Formats: sequence, C-alpha cells, structure tokens
Amino acid sequence: MIATITCNPAIDITYSLSNFQLNQVNRVQAMDRSAGGKGLNVSRVLSQLGHDVICSGFLGGRNGEWIANQLTQFRLMNLFVPIQEETRTCHAILSEGTYTEILEKGPIVTEHEQEEFLVRFDSLVETVSFIILSGSLPSRVKPDFYSILIKKAKDRGKFCFVDTSAKTLAEVIKSKPFLIKPNKEELKELSGKNCISDLVDYAKNICEDGTRYVLLSLGKEGALLISNSEVLRAYVPTIKEVNPVGSGDSMLAGFTHAYQKNYTLIEALKWSCACGISNALSERTGCIDLSQVKDLTNKITVTQYKGI
Ligand code: ATP
Repeated sequence: MIATITCNPAIDITYSLSNFQLNQVNRVQAMDRSAGGKGLNVSRVLSQLGHDVICSGFLGGRNGEWIANQLTQFRLMNLFVPIQEETRTCHAILSEGTYTEILEKGPIVTEHEQEEFLVRFDSLVETVSFIILSGSLPSRVKPDFYSILIKKAKDRGKFCFVDTSAKTLAEVIKSKPFLIKPNKEELKELSGKNCISDLVDYAKNICEDGTRYVLLSLGKEGALLISNSEVLRAYVPTIKEVNPVGSGDSMLAGFTHAYQKNYTLIEALKWSCACGISNALSERTGCIDLSQVKDLTNKITVTQYKGI
C-alpha cells in the first residue's frame, strides 16, 4: 500500500484555445477539470500502474467535495482531513504551444486542523510502506511540516519520497528522506549552482548526508538518478509533447512502482522516465497509457554518468 500526501490540493481547470491574448475576450475551445495538486497526480498514475493508494492532506468546502468525489471515481482511498476554508482552484491556459498558469494560494489550515492531520498520519503510517509527500504547503503550515512527517515515517521504517519547491526542500533535506525529486530549476534554486556537473556534485553531497536518492528530472533531456555510490543518466526519445504538466509527478509514480516491485535501479529510472513521457504525450495531467509506458522503457537508454 502507498500513501500520498497533498497538503494543498486544487481543482485544476485547463482551458485550450487558439491565439490567447491579454486584454482581449478569449473564447475557450475545450476545457478540462481535474483533481489536482501534485500528490493527486501521483496518485492517479499509481492507480493506473495497479497500486492501491491512500490519499491524505486537507480538503475543504464545495471544491473539496468535488475532489473527494473524483477520488472515488479513480478508486483512490480518501483519508483527507476536512478543513473550514475552501480548497483552491488553479487555472491553466493552453494556446499555440504556450502554457500560462494562474495559481491560487490556497486555504488557511488552522493549527487544530494540522493537529488532526498528524493524529491521522500516525495511524496511516502503520498501514503503508511508501509515503509520497508532494507539492506546496498551504498558508500557516510551518515549513518543517514535511520534516515532522518524514521523522514519523522513518521511525517506523517507512520510505518517504518528496517532491516540493526549492524553499521547502531546503528544510526537507535536513530530515534525510529516502528520495527527493527536484527538476533542474528547483535544484538550481536550492544549490545556487548552474551547470549540470555542479548540480550532480551538490546532489551527491545531499546523498552523502543521508538522503538515499536524488531523482533529478531534466524535461526533454531525460533524467539523472544520483546516490552516494553512483550516478545514472537516462536518455529519452524525442517526442511531440502535448501537455508536459504533471510529468514530474508521473515520473515519481513510475519510480515508486518500480522500486516497490524490486526492479533494478536502471529499470526504475527507465520506468520513471517512461511514465513522465507518457504523461507529456497525453492531454490530461497525471495520466499515462500503460502499454505505451512499457513500450517506452525499451526506447530509453541508461548509462553511468560521466559528465554531459
Ligand atoms: P511537473 O512539475 O509538471 O510535474 P517536472 O518539471 O517536475 O514536471 P520534467 O522534468 O518536466 O518534470 O519531466 C519529468 C520527466 O518526464 C523527464 O525527466 C522526462 O523523462 C519526461 N519528459 C517530460 N517532458 C518530456 C519531453 N518533452 N520529452 C521527453 N521526455 C519528457
């Protein structure tokens, strides 16, 4: 069993239109509404990969009810803590190869609601082997919130995988989770470094400090899997991407799936990239095609990293 924690979920609304223009009336050609927040994207992909997933975090108001209903449709178990304020809505505009996002900040989660979550987390941790902490933290949630969860999980011998902003990661790495999944921009911001070889050295230091793996995603350039003993480089095929949003989340689901199945690290990296690519080939966010993923794993090359 795998748990995903989405502290700041959202209803993600994507508008597709041609020729989007500022200061103009823009008419939408197609609209998609999905249960979003990075953890929920991961959850949907894990479910598509055949896993039972427990989803938790904070949900409030009508938007929260809508998301809860979506969880049922995707056969995801709902262990969200109800909150007073309304869960946020985020908007994306897809137009002529451009992608514009408008993200609400999200609700205030009271201290009492956070306490309630921690109690629920204690029992949740007992029932799962892997815990995925994904996305931003809502207002008034302290920056060390993830660290508290990681400590609780590690004390019970559970694996924690984390994907969050550079600012939150700076706090998270102090508690040495099993894996972090930054993208290039996040690791640049976290490290203050720019070139790939410096980022790899920085990631190695994180691993020497106690985090087992850094899964560094590089978009269409593939990915790197860094540990304190080796660095693997994945080369991915060129694709005509449709919607890359959620590729990192799909990648994290792919890695979790492969790791849980005891695949080799090379296979795990291939599955990670294949899920990321499959998501980028789909219009929907946090959505893969399993047969396409299997096919893609044969088109990804993994080598020992010797510099780029
Ligand atoms: P998000 O935050 O939207 O989930 P991300 O920035 O964390 O995304 P990316 O680095 O964009 O994640 O993508 C994750 C993985 O998906 C990449 O490492 C790569 O394997 C695959 N991928 C994404 N986009 C492409 C693309 N255009 N071509 C090939 N592979 C891609």
